[in-house]
Amino acid sequence: VISLQLKKETEELRRDFLLWLKDNPPPKIAGRIELSDFVEISRSWQRVLAQSRWVGVHWPERYGGRGLSLVEEAVIQECLAQAGSPQLINLFGLTMVGPVLIQHGSEEQRQRFLPKILSAEEIWCQGFSEPDAGSDLAAVKTKAELREGKWHISGQKVWTSFAQVADWCFILLRTDPAAQRYKGLTYFLFPMNSPGVTLRPLTQISGDKEFNELFLDDVAVGGDMIVGTEGGGWNIAISTLMYERVVLTFARHLQSESALNEIRDLLRTRGASETEKIQFGRLLARSMAVRALALNHLTSYEQAASSASAVAPGPEGSLDKLGWSECYQDICKFALTLLTGTGIFTRGERAYKDGLFQHDYLYSRGRTIAAGTSEIQRNIIAERLLGLPREGKH
Ligand SMILES: Cc1cc2nc3c(=O)[nH]c(=O)nc-3n(C[C@H](O)[C@H](O)[C@H](O)COP(=O)(O)OP(=O)(O)OC[C@H]3O[C@@H](n4cnc5c(N)ncnc54)[C@H](O)[C@@H]3O)c2cc1C
Repeated sequence: VISLQLKKETEELRRDFLLWLKDNPPPKIAGRIELSDFVEISRSWQRVLAQSRWVGVHWPERYGGRGLSLVEEAVIQECLAQAGSPQLINLFGLTMVGPVLIQHGSEEQRQRFLPKILSAEEIWCQGFSEPDAGSDLAAVKTKAELREGKWHISGQKVWTSFAQVADWCFILLRTDPAAQRYKGLTYFLFPMNSPGVTLRPLTQISGDKEFNELFLDDVAVGGDMIVGTEGGGWNIAISTLMYERVVLTFARHLQSESALNEIRDLLRTRGASETEKIQFGRLLARSMAVRALALNHLTSYEQAASSASAVAPGPEGSLDKLGWSECYQDICKFALTLLTGTGIFTRGERAYKDGLFQHDYLYSRGRTIAAGTSEIQRNIIAERLLGLPREGKH
């Protein structure tokens, strides 16, 4: 049974925030725009939200949050989506490295970084994947060597989203090549304007240029940029991924709602056959079920501790991530089938909304890969939630 009873205080928070949004409406982005323009609009919007403490509400108050739970964070994000807010640019900071610093960082790191994550003054990117280390993240080869009091980073990362606009990167590096592979890894932070950092943008199938190859040639950082302990990076990387699958996926889930709204608009304007209505209804119901499951996970963290912000997400986030990404892909696929006769046009008069549906369909392909592929999520669900035998050990 999935319980979705929200607390009275949570409903009050929703009401307060919706009132605030009436007086402070989010910027409207008309159609598809250049990444640099999006960054500027989204950065200013996040600053406005942060000034009234509407970002990172689940962070402790002493770090600029409101000390609320992840459910309340989810409610804020739902309100933002309802109000048509653009996606916040510093999502990796807000949903990954921020919570990780609160859980594992030093007090100096928290004081130094957290306020600027909230205000989007410093944007973050994630340097985990490498050409030979994706699903098998423990195969990371990019190394950091200690010489004359500084760590020197060399190697290559790939698929680094928003690296071209990021000020800082959180990165997993090999510091002890002789240690057992999970043990020789350390979690670092480094500024993207360091000498020795080179970026090469990669174009996605949708035409977007969000991610990059990231080359690191003797980039020097101090030991104070290690999060946790030297050699203790694996557990912190896993903790980051858990946050990504639960918290960031909830933020992304709102993309499904926006895609469903677009479909609803089209069906209302041009009329829908009985079959289309049933197909749409099924997708809507599935999307609602996925959202209910995600909310239920967030509520269970709240129930598991008197202070929910003290409870870290676990492997159940794989259910959320898998359910959401596959449902989102099916929604985008269904949208394409509605463009009979005009689906080949992405520009010009005959294109529906400047090729919005075609773009979203192509963009959605990457969603079952990013943050761990569907196969990896199924492995985690099988082994860690259902207790089935571990891969290769049966
Ligand atoms: C849109 C997008 C944004 C991304 N942004 C970032 C980012 O900002 N930072 C970052 O570090 N990374 C990022 N990534 C990278 C992402 O994390 C990796 O692509 C993902 O982890 C898969 O790794 P891989 O591409 O190396 O594929 P591989 O690991 O080589 O997998 C290839 C295929 O083999 C399957 N496979 C592999 N191992 C197993 C197994 N044990 N059992 C069953 N099947 C298996 C996979 O499911 C997949 O189908 C992004 C990816 C995308 C698509």
